[in-house]
Order: sequence, then C-alpha cells, then structure tokens
Amino acid sequence: MNYNVNEKGYYGDFGGAFIPEMLYPNVEELRQNYLKIMAEPDFKKEFNQLLKDYVGRPSPLYFAKRLSEKYKAKIYLKREDLNHTGAHKINNTIGQILMAKRLGKTRIIAETGAGQHGVATATVCALMGMECIVYMGEIDIARQAPNVARMKMLGATVVPALSGSRTLKDATNEAIRDWINNPVNTHYIIGSAIGPHPYPDMVTRFQAVISEEIKWQLKEQEGRENPDYVVACIGGGSNAAGTYYHFLHEPEVGIIAVEAAGLGIDSGESAATSVLGKEGIIHGCKTLLMQTHDGQITEPYSISAGLDYPGVGPMHAHLSKTGRAEFMSITDSDAMEAGLELSKLEGIIPAIETSHALAIFNYKTFKPDDVVVVSLSGRGDKDLNTYIDYFKL
Ligand SMILES: *Cc1c(COP(=O)(O)O)cnc(C)c1O
Repeated sequence: MNYNVNEKGYYGDFGGAFIPEMLYPNVEELRQNYLKIMAEPDFKKEFNQLLKDYVGRPSPLYFAKRLSEKYKAKIYLKREDLNHTGAHKINNTIGQILMAKRLGKTRIIAETGAGQHGVATATVCALMGMECIVYMGEIDIARQAPNVARMKMLGATVVPALSGSRTLKDATNEAIRDWINNPVNTHYIIGSAIGPHPYPDMVTRFQAVISEEIKWQLKEQEGRENPDYVVACIGGGSNAAGTYYHFLHEPEVGIIAVEAAGLGIDSGESAATSVLGKEGIIHGCKTLLMQTHDGQITEPYSISAGLDYPGVGPMHAHLSKTGRAEFMSITDSDAMEAGLELSKLEGIIPAIETSHALAIFNYKTFKPDDVVVVSLSGRGDKDLNTYIDYFKL
C-alpha cells in the first residue's frame, strides 16, 4: 500500500485538484515546479538554515519521565511548542515563502480562522519583506483580537470576510477570489495539509522535518529509529502528516490520529471528521468532510480553534479508510484535563489542540516498554484565557 501522494495527486481515493478553471494556471505552475525547487541545493540550504537559526530547530525530543511513570509507557514529547511563534505552523510558512520567492512572487495571501496560520504567515512575510494580505471572517476577527494585533504589528493587512457565516470558509472564498484576480505576482499560502494538489504533499514535505528529527533523536536516546507509536492531533492534519511521514511505510510503527469530539461524537457539536464525515469536496480536494444529506458543510465545533475544521487532509482520509492509522476522538473536557495534567506533571502548558493528543493515555493502554512519541504541536499561551475560564483559575 502506498500512503504518499501518487503522480495524479491522489492518496488512494482522496485528494486531486477540484478548482475553478480560472485557478488552474496558478495551481499548475506550483505543481510543475514544487518538487524541482525543493530538490535544489540552494533551496534546501536556505530552508534548513532558517529552520535552524530562525525557528530554533531541531526541536527537542523530550522523554517525559513523570508522564511515563503515570501511564506506564515510555512517552516522548516532540517539542514543536518551542519553535518561534509557538507551534509547528512556521515550518510550513518558511517553506512556502521560499517557494514563492523562487517562483518570482512578490505578494502573499492567506486565510486564517483562529489566527495562528495568519500569524505564522505574517511572520515570514516580515522576514522576507513581502506584502501580506490575510483574509479572516469578521466574527473570527472579533474572537481572536490578540492574533489580529500580532498580524498588524508584523505588517500584514487583515481583510475581514463579510459574507456567509463570516468565519473560516468565507475567508477561504475571499482568498481564492483574490488569487484568481492576481495570478501572476501572488502566492497563496495554505496552512495545513489540505487544499488542491500539490498543497497537501508540499505542506507534508515541509512538515516532514518533524519525523526526520524524531528518527535520529530516538536513535540517540533509545538506540533505535522507530518508535512503537506516533501520536498527533488532527485539524487539517499538518503536524500529524509531518510526524507520521517517515514512518508511514514502517509497518512496526503504529500511527494514532486524534480528532476533536467536541461535546461528544453524537452531540451535534463535534469535529470528529473520520467518524462523522462522508466523501465530498472541500478546499479544492476530495476528502472526508462533515456534511448534511444534501451536501452542505456542517459547522464543526471544538473548544480548540485549531481543530475546529469540517474536513481532514486527504492523506488522513486515506490512512483512515485503509486502517493504517488508528483514529481516536477526544472531547473538550478530556482534552482540558489532559492539558492541566501535563502542566502539573511536566511543567509544560500545551496548546488545547495538543491536549487532545495527550488525552489518549486515559483510553489506550500501552506496554511498559512501548516507545510512544507524541507531537507537542504548540504551546498554551494563546489558550490561557480558555484554560482560565474553564478551570476558574
Ligand atoms: C493549527 C494547529 C493545529 C492543527 O493544525 P494541523 O494542520 O492539523 O496540524 C494543531 N496544534 C496547534 C498548536 C495548532 O496551532
């Protein structure tokens, strides 16, 4: 079984590029060039240098002793929370800004829901002196004021999407409209392993640095490159894709994907796409998505803004359908408790997205000598108010 994208842009039944005719030239330009550019020694050198000196990579692979004692397994945390800007998203935006430069683009657009991808994009645009336009739903702008302020400080223009539900999908429509109108000088930075081919593969390859590092770090600490399990939370699926990438074809490595169950799978307030989703088209690709009988996208819900997405990247739809990955779903309350527990046991306050991945230890039992690597996708600073309200701190 192949878990990577094929030459047609598919992961099994999922993926492809379902785009308006007028976007074809932009996406085709990227498709024809991305692998070539990524293979250029100059590109690799600049990417790796920035990951090292700007992002702060390699991120540590930390053996969590007290967590391991509690759950009776050897638990390692891959510390993406220590990256510049506080999460894994910067790995992708650094890669894409360099790609945009090589393609001769001078203007960057992005869409953002919670604002995290907007901040990561505005950051690399400042770094490279590029114009940056971030589309964001009017409702999200009001909900995510600190991230809007960050983007503005970094020099980005934040444009409110005023149509529809005034949230992420409306921002996406605005960004696509912009790209159609500015095909020559503009690159569209998508923030997760989603979108039309080649985006899911390109984003996965930029994030694959996570599993590349895990291999040599585990070799140093455990004497072997392959853990028994890798675990990651899934919104669109970019930190997960990067964490799994170099283990996809190592059958002895178990893959665990953690989705947000929100208030519960059957509550109507959930984002557990692998359980509730059906095949459909979202964001330019065929994948699993939450939809009504007549194909309208269902509003997802999760306490964590980063997992509050009605679809899932096509790689993960394939991993789910083939059974290569075990999918688990974790409720808001289980995630919040797991976030508090990591804070108290290890002195690390995780992003609430990440807390979902940590909560699986209450539901899945491992063997005492199992090596389990969890992607600690981001830090909890941005979520402090949610933790404060929830726990009445
Ligand atoms: C955005 C975000 C996620 C979800 O995005 P993926 O593309 O699924 O990785 C997870 N964790 C953190 C900390 C995030 O900021």
